[in-house]
Amino acid sequence: MKLNRRAFIGTAAAAAGTFAAPLLVRADGHAKPRVVIVGGGAGGATAARYIAKDSNGEIDVTLIEPTRTYYTCFFSNLYLGGFRTMDSLGHSYGTLAAEYGINVVHDWATGVDRDAKTVATAGGYTIPYDRLILSPGIDFVDGAVAGWDVTSQNAMPHAYKAGSQTELLRAQVEAMPQGGTYAMVAPPNPFRCPPGPYERVSMVAHMLKETNPTAKILIADPKEKFSKQGLFEAGWNDHYAGMIERVGPDFGGDNIEVDPNAMTLSIDGDVTNVDVCNVIPAMKAGKIADLAGITEGNWAPVNAADLSSKMDENIHVLGDACAQGDMPKSGFSANSQAKVCANAVRGALTGSTVFPARFANTCWSLIDTNNGVKVGASYEATDEKIAKVDGFISEVGESAEVRQATFEESVGWYDGITADMFG
Ligand SMILES: Cc1cc2nc3c(=O)[nH]c(=O)nc-3n(C[C@H](O)[C@H](O)[C@H](O)COP(=O)(O)OP(=O)(O)OC[C@H]3O[C@@H](n4cnc5c(N)ncnc54)[C@H](O)[C@@H]3O)c2cc1C
Repeated sequence: MKLNRRAFIGTAAAAAGTFAAPLLVRADGHAKPRVVIVGGGAGGATAARYIAKDSNGEIDVTLIEPTRTYYTCFFSNLYLGGFRTMDSLGHSYGTLAAEYGINVVHDWATGVDRDAKTVATAGGYTIPYDRLILSPGIDFVDGAVAGWDVTSQNAMPHAYKAGSQTELLRAQVEAMPQGGTYAMVAPPNPFRCPPGPYERVSMVAHMLKETNPTAKILIADPKEKFSKQGLFEAGWNDHYAGMIERVGPDFGGDNIEVDPNAMTLSIDGDVTNVDVCNVIPAMKAGKIADLAGITEGNWAPVNAADLSSKMDENIHVLGDACAQGDMPKSGFSANSQAKVCANAVRGALTGSTVFPARFANTCWSLIDTNNGVKVGASYEATDEKIAKVDGFISEVGESAEVRQATFEESVGWYDGITADMFG
């Protein structure tokens, strides 16, 4: 049979359909499957890059992210300690757009219509998807710290979303009077970056030791214990003796009130005048997860094998926003989950091979110059959750050489993971 052009196209499409059914023309006439990703941070940028890179143009990828420059929270404490510049933490989306063909839309996602499979944006767009990936990070629980809300974040910064808040906090530390008090209200579990508040205390102490050695640091903490506690406490004792006081729940660290106008912190009714007050409230999944109707309590439950929502198989949730099991809420975790999710989404949409889910995380913290410590683990997907397989942690009393090597490892990790996210 001699084929004319019309017949050839029809035959080719039918043949393609035999081997790659998901690539058939969509109901709305769109030729390629569409993945929309909300949030261009550690989870979202990685997922976007991996889906675009590995699908070789077979999937249309749209990334919705309001900011033009993403400032990493990871290493933002090092900026507070004077070890990094703010510029070195900033990453643009230019390479994702130019080299990976990702449609980067700088806008806020304001709603998800799960029946129509569309995302609405503040700019008025309606963006259709076959699969939606949400990686919006965290928002704060309203009323979590009495006296504090987002309107007080200029007087009492959280600096738990990096950028202007981090710069503000550092400026406040620099402006402290000699012998003044830096207070931190630490968050309850679970929260973004379990060692983060305590690395921050170390970095602020490092700066104060150089510029304001009689200053004090007061931590009000609702938790009995915290990540790498032994390592941090030994480090504070060695490097910042007498500077840091932590008040745990036994002594009212869970009964806090702040007054941003008076600059006071009340711990169990005992009021202290403070010069800086870093309030890190309780956290929940970024608001868009709530708006999509896929949260239970503060977080979005997901299946471990592919990070799909337990409430909607066409939506996946990555990173800090999801309730997945044993992994801590970290950039490394989000990046690791994103790769598993990208592989599964690509498999579902194009029929490509889906590999068994494996996850890893390491959290490094800097205590003082060249004094790095780490904790990490590997994980696998079970029917119930992402489950920890094995782990490691630095030891108290390690040599200066080991601590320096750990710090250098963390610098290499930063360069590697940001390249993995942003290309
Ligand atoms: C002080 C500090 C230190 C840390 N140190 C480390 C560390 O050393 N190592 C480590 O691994 N992790 C660290 N972390 C944790 C790490 O930053 C987070 O776990 C990680 O960023 C989570 O990734 P994510 O994709 O879930 O969220 P994010 O990286 O926060 O990305 C979320 C993105 O979604 C966007 N977004 C939110 N809502 C919407 C919406 N409605 N529409 C469109 N876009 C939206 C936001 O603008 C943001 O860019 C640290 C965190 C802090 C605060």
